[in-house]
Amino acid sequence: MSAIDSLPPLRAVIAEHQLSAKKQLGQNFLLDLNLTAKIARQAGDLAGCDVLEIGPGPGGLTRGLLAEGARRVLAVEKDARCIPALEQIAAAYPGRLEVVHGDALEIDPLSRLTPPIRIAANLPYNVGTELLVRWLTPKDWPPFWQSLTLMFQREVADRIVAAPGSKAYGRLAILSQWRAEARIVMSLPPEAFTPPPKISSAVVHLTALPEPRYPADAAVLSRVVAAAFNQRRKMLRAALKGVTPDVIGCLERAGIDPTERAEQVDLERFCALSREVAKSR
Ligand code: SAM
Repeated sequence: MSAIDSLPPLRAVIAEHQLSAKKQLGQNFLLDLNLTAKIARQAGDLAGCDVLEIGPGPGGLTRGLLAEGARRVLAVEKDARCIPALEQIAAAYPGRLEVVHGDALEIDPLSRLTPPIRIAANLPYNVGTELLVRWLTPKDWPPFWQSLTLMFQREVADRIVAAPGSKAYGRLAILSQWRAEARIVMSLPPEAFTPPPKISSAVVHLTALPEPRYPADAAVLSRVVAAAFNQRRKMLRAALKGVTPDVIGCLERAGIDPTERAEQVDLERFCALSREVAKSR
């Protein structure tokens, strides 16, 4: 019998540990182990990798990651009620699962992980977006992680992979695609979760590129993109007024018509614009 077979079904775990879903912790659990194994497979080849899992809850995805061969899983969970259920999984996989009780936004798990590192999570959406932005904007590149496999509400997933010219295209698309390859790898209906949320979800897989697609200073690019999309209906010559005294010159040298709007400008030209802005100051 494999380790995963020795563990009780997740519904029994939830009943035993009285894990009634708490709305304020964004708890929508995945209880189908076939589905969690499928999500774990989207994280890539886990053999020889440490996996950081944020928000394991009762441990459905955790079981999937371990069964798919992760060398070690470090699971960070905020809800104390889930810890005994997770320790039960740790006992079935000796030395391969470390459970940390804490808030993923506050703790730094890096010292407990050995590269190569992959990250996988089914998190509340607000926490997921905040962590994604942090993971995409480290001090140095390449980052500490090789890939991110994250569940988002469908609308956020669409914003991560969006192309220029679409409504979903904005800061999140630029941040995600500048230094990573981002793909939607699975779509999940509300019924996949217990309790079901109101909206559909999707799993996004991001792989860190060794270098940015186009050269740019991260802080300047971030400022330019924030200003451009904060007033996305305005022409760029107006939206970027506060960014540099020579807006028109910078736009023109970057090959952008000053009357264009942020939505029409692709990543390559945003990077060119950031280089011009950096030079102009
Ligand atoms: N991964 C589990 C699954 O797929 O069934 C649970 C998913 S549930 C959507 C989100 C989980 O993240 C919950 O267990 C919740 O307690 C946990 N969580 C919420 N905020 C957190 C935070 N800031 N840090 C760590 N865990 C958090």
